[in-house]
Amino acid sequence: MISSDASAIVGDLRELFRSGVTKPVTWRRKQLAGLRALLTEQADVFIKALYADLRKNAVEAKRAEIALVRNEIDHTLENLDSWLTPEPADIPQPLRPGAGRVVREPLGVALIIGPWNYPLQLVLAPLVGALAAGNCAVVKPSELSPNTSAAIAEHLPAYVEGVRVVEGAIPETTALLEQKFDTIFYTGNGTVGRIVMAAAAKHLTPVTLELGGKSPAIVEPGADLAVTAQRLAYGKFANAGQTCVAPDYVLAIGDTGPKLAEHLAETVEAMFGADPATSDSYGRIISTRHHDRLAALLDDGTAVVGGKADRDEKYIAPTVLTDVSPDAPVMRDEIFGPILPIIEVPDVDAALAFVNERDKPLALYAFTESDETKRRIETETSSGGLVFGAAIIHLAAPELPFGGVGESGMGRYHGRYSIDNFSHVKAVLDKPLASGKAT
Ligand code: NAD
Repeated sequence: MISSDASAIVGDLRELFRSGVTKPVTWRRKQLAGLRALLTEQADVFIKALYADLRKNAVEAKRAEIALVRNEIDHTLENLDSWLTPEPADIPQPLRPGAGRVVREPLGVALIIGPWNYPLQLVLAPLVGALAAGNCAVVKPSELSPNTSAAIAEHLPAYVEGVRVVEGAIPETTALLEQKFDTIFYTGNGTVGRIVMAAAAKHLTPVTLELGGKSPAIVEPGADLAVTAQRLAYGKFANAGQTCVAPDYVLAIGDTGPKLAEHLAETVEAMFGADPATSDSYGRIISTRHHDRLAALLDDGTAVVGGKADRDEKYIAPTVLTDVSPDAPVMRDEIFGPILPIIEVPDVDAALAFVNERDKPLALYAFTESDETKRRIETETSSGGLVFGAAIIHLAAPELPFGGVGESGMGRYHGRYSIDNFSHVKAVLDKPLASGKAT
């Protein structure tokens, strides 16, 4: 695709938006119903595509890709009228008589750029917000998950109006980014996030950046380590660790490290059997390049669980590492794979210092029974989201905003936060001319 094609696509959508057709709530509801039908009628197509791209098993594909978006649609359909109702706003005495209100108006044409790890959900969930807020959208799925990208391109247009799918890699995305959009929603890594933001700046286009980072999990003595291990293992090893909010590493306080490692070993075996390579429920790494990067990290500590890699299969075993130096490569960048380092720290102070010395993470997890520790973590750290007693599940709660802070991103979505993200929140003040006052 060249720049003139991208320009024509955006031009068509802008014309549609300017016609006013997307503004009525009935149009928005129709598109959401269309997306819902797409997920139901083409579920098998998407499940096959996700398996081909990531060897994602059907249960995981249904739960984390299809049902998650369907829940987002249902929650939005249920609440859309109330979210879109203008909010009355009080105005100060010197400005009276008069009435204030806050209204949400669609921005126009949105660009949604998706990654490969949840290649369906991370394109469609933002699209729910864009359409519910009354926008048109161009969606660009990731080229690294080509089967899902092709399935979206083939089927989505038959179910919704006001959306165009552009497939491709850097040249296609670059051609799109040259166009003037009214908002850009990007999910992926921070390096490309900077490219997106620089391109958006030329048009003064607002951006949402859903990025990643190293999300820590703090484990305190007194926490039930068997339950902690189960919840950490689910968060870490689902999708073979390729989840933006997967716990990246564990900060094990006091003597919890070795016991937690034992429980993790039992949990991994219960989840995937003695040899996860033969398990139907265990995924694969997206590409050989990503596989090789991860394989090189397996030597950064002692593998007390897993530690195996198979390049031909793009397989990395669910792995738990101990004896890891905080300066080791595995502790430098986001791991984004099924390797869980355990770093031992003496106390809560040391855990908080460890977190605060690093970039603000997308998620922070803590397993503790202490209200005082919870209070300290909540008030003394900054992260996109904070979860006590579990991992990754907060992204499935549409009442909670989802997004990062600092290096983990900017902006937030899900539920009503998506409406605000894809709307201009406009101030309206209506003063009767008959009042006779100058102000
Ligand atoms: P990716 O390589 O698929 O890239 C994401 C998108 O950027 C793709 O559509 C790709 O075509 C486009 N792109 C790549 N290079 C580009 C360039 N030079 N110019 C313009 N566009 C370009 O995905 P990724 O970045 O490897 O995804 C992994 C990262 O995403 C991890 O850091 C992960 O934590 C993060 N992530 C964040 C969330 C979230 O919700 N916050 C969700 C999933 C993944």
